[in-house]
Amino acid sequence: MIEPARDAGAAVPAASPVMVQYHEIKQAHPGCLLFFRMGDFYELFFDDAVTAAQALDIALTKRGRHEGADIPMCGVPVHTAEAYLARLIRAGFKVAMCDQIEDPAEARRRGAKGPVRRAVIRVVTAGTLTEEGLLDARRHNYLAGLAEAGGEIGLAWLDLSTGAFALAPTSEPALAGDLARLMPGEILLPERMLTRPALFELLAEWKPALTPLPNPRFESEAARRRLESFYGVGALDGFGNFGRAELAAAGALVDYVGLTQQGRAPHLEPPRRVAPGSVMQIDAATRRNLELVTTLAGERRGSLLATIDRTVTAAGARLLADHLAAPLTEPAGIAARLDAVQFFVDRPEARAALRERLKRCPDIERALTRLSLGRGGPRDLASLRQSLGETASLRDRLAQPGLVPLPERLSEAQHGLGEHGVLVERLGRALAAELPLFARDGGFIAARYSNELDEWRSLRDESRRMIAALQARYAGETAIGALKIRHNNVIGYYIEVSANHAGKLGPEFIHRQTMAGAQRYTTAELAELETKIASAAERALALELRLYEDLVAEIMARRAEIAAAATALATLDLAAALAEMATEALWVRPVVEEGTAFEVQGGRHPTVEAALAAEGKGGGFVANDCGLADNRVWLVTGPNMAGKSTFLRQNALIAILAQMSSYVPARAARIGIVDRLFSRVGAADDLARGRSTFMVEMIETAAILNQAGPRAFVILDEIGRGTATFDGLSIAWAALEHLHEVNRCRTLFATHYHELTALAAKLPALACHTMRVKEWKGDVVFLHEVGPGTADRSYGIHVAKLAGLPKTVTARAEEVLGVLEKGEQGGALARLADDLPLFRAARRRAEPVLQASPAEALLSETRPDELTPREALDLVYRLKNLTTD
Ligand code: ADP
Repeated sequence: MIEPARDAGAAVPAASPVMVQYHEIKQAHPGCLLFFRMGDFYELFFDDAVTAAQALDIALTKRGRHEGADIPMCGVPVHTAEAYLARLIRAGFKVAMCDQIEDPAEARRRGAKGPVRRAVIRVVTAGTLTEEGLLDARRHNYLAGLAEAGGEIGLAWLDLSTGAFALAPTSEPALAGDLARLMPGEILLPERMLTRPALFELLAEWKPALTPLPNPRFESEAARRRLESFYGVGALDGFGNFGRAELAAAGALVDYVGLTQQGRAPHLEPPRRVAPGSVMQIDAATRRNLELVTTLAGERRGSLLATIDRTVTAAGARLLADHLAAPLTEPAGIAARLDAVQFFVDRPEARAALRERLKRCPDIERALTRLSLGRGGPRDLASLRQSLGETASLRDRLAQPGLVPLPERLSEAQHGLGEHGVLVERLGRALAAELPLFARDGGFIAARYSNELDEWRSLRDESRRMIAALQARYAGETAIGALKIRHNNVIGYYIEVSANHAGKLGPEFIHRQTMAGAQRYTTAELAELETKIASAAERALALELRLYEDLVAEIMARRAEIAAAATALATLDLAAALAEMATEALWVRPVVEEGTAFEVQGGRHPTVEAALAAEGKGGGFVANDCGLADNRVWLVTGPNMAGKSTFLRQNALIAILAQMSSYVPARAARIGIVDRLFSRVGAADDLARGRSTFMVEMIETAAILNQAGPRAFVILDEIGRGTATFDGLSIAWAALEHLHEVNRCRTLFATHYHELTALAAKLPALACHTMRVKEWKGDVVFLHEVGPGTADRSYGIHVAKLAGLPKTVTARAEEVLGVLEKGEQGGALARLADDLPLFRAARRRAEPVLQASPAEALLSETRPDELTPREALDLVYRLKNLTTD
């Protein structure tokens, strides 16, 4: 609020009424940039202006003065505001959109005093976006909420743009993995949670996405009531059995949605509970290492998701991303989904026909949300008409005699497609061919949909013709050939005759104006026509808007059915897309079962194989088996670049693919449910978080050794490399023993420490495998084949040669290696260190005049041709003495 100037001496002019209004609204929305509508611009003032001008790289100007100082100001045009919004949201800001909620002209007519009424119609935050332009069509944008109650932590998440809503219990150790799975755009949490030491580091990582709110917003009883009233139910039991913490989190989400949407109720599905343990736990590091949705370089291309995505609709792509992020842990559920995929693998023609139809289905999940928030437009109606229009023929196709009975999931989807004929027909009649983005632009209702609208429009469009017809009639009736109907902005339409004809006009002609040599008249008929014409455009638009609202209301009345159809379309798309992928890349249906089997025959790495194929080396990928039945721990040795990492990762990816219910890149696969997947692959400095490679490696290794149970699957690639050799070897040694004895999980352990293979004799479930290598004409050929046994060498020097290290360096390295391999490391190393050929060589070049050693001096004096055999023998003895001295 503006405070009156306290210092009576300083003559500060009173704030303008608009500024008073501005400050009131600004104060009610702390933490937000305020987009304040002024005519055709959203304007920002004071600190907001400074911040936004910098973030958006736009001009900072000033407008008026406040409390004796200039008011900093910047602005963006309303019609391009979305692009600016996108940039601000991406930069982590929240924006309150304040609009004029009355027509300025009307306000003036009403004689209202003060500024036009304004109000915040919405607060835009990263987790509550609904606009196409602000969202990635193929990814969910989750708003997550955390809460605590009764010593437990609850997690809830929703995607406002699609209506998806779910909740689950979580815990301090599991939270990082849960958040990594959802990748929420925004996380709500009670302020007090920020102070929990155990969560400090985890939350710091999510800092830009955090929205801390006062603790009372996360009260579980209030949350229950809020959810009950949101869904209009007396009790939530029908939706599931929820814990208090989960409810508190979900309630806070609904509350926040109400707050940011200023009370408008979006379509939200009833919350779905993800039971503990029902999805494979994969921590953030493992997700990164396995490049599930982005590569280590942060790109989508080259990730597993991008490699396998054959979906043709945005909703299908989102479902795929969700499934990939959360593989299931229950064989029956996995099998049911796989049945749907297999159905389409076995029926390529049905698949192709279905995909053709699906390609024509725009994203109705997001269209429905925009409409329910009053943010939609005619094009959203068209999307609904289009997609819902396809459902009937899709349903019929799935009912064809050759295809029934459908697998359970598909028959559910077929049912879910629903019956939308009436709505589709109505939308079909209602919508014009060309549609504006916003309803307020008008012109989107088709001709012949509404008689009244047609009339208004013909009045508007044919005004000239009707005026011309009236003119002709009056000219005929009055027998004044020169009678004209004209228009000007001062008196509107008028009839004009020359002064000498004025007397011929009947009483219906009402005099308006006398001009030089002409008289102007109007008639009741013309006045009526004029009002009609003048208001026709306005009326047409108003009527269009009413018809639009009717259509939206009809859609809202059917939103549950429409949402179900959207889900069904996504399900069909995903099943057909996975089938497409499987067929294209010759993948097989995995057997997923209880137990700890892991039998992969002819397994391949999906992205490496695809990359080789893209380079024109199709078929270049060498398939490998992995059987962990008798030996659950494999120790994999082999040279650098031989394919160890690839082998490790491919097996982890096969487990993920199998449990997300995809076919897998293998000849055959039998997988016992993996409840947690861990990967520690490669070394990546995490400088952003101020940790060294080795520290990161140890933190990740600690997580594995502390958490992996008998149903886990672990891949560990070269742990212990970031420190001194013996240090690293000892850590790797002890970790391997621990995995074998304590964790007792399925493990692939790749290492350069060949010494570890000695453990095979001691650990019964440990088997040694190696990457095959062929030495050929002094060169090393990597066969990329995994076989039983141990690598005898690392071939690191070979790789160094390939990489172009100077020859002097690789030759010297071979020399050092020779000594090291003899095993007498201590003394030999000391001698090696005394003798530095590299520097000797360098020195030799630098100091061409060398002092000869005694042995060299002796040799240079010697003339071999003149020596007797006896003298030659003496010479050898003397040389020998000289060099050993
Ligand atoms: P390592 O971990 O042993 O150093 P990588 O797994 O990183 O080796 O593999 C090095 C390269 O070898 C990969 O980038 C890939 O191009 C190729 N490669 C690995 N495995 C195979 C395979 N099974 N078939 C064909 N090429 C492979």
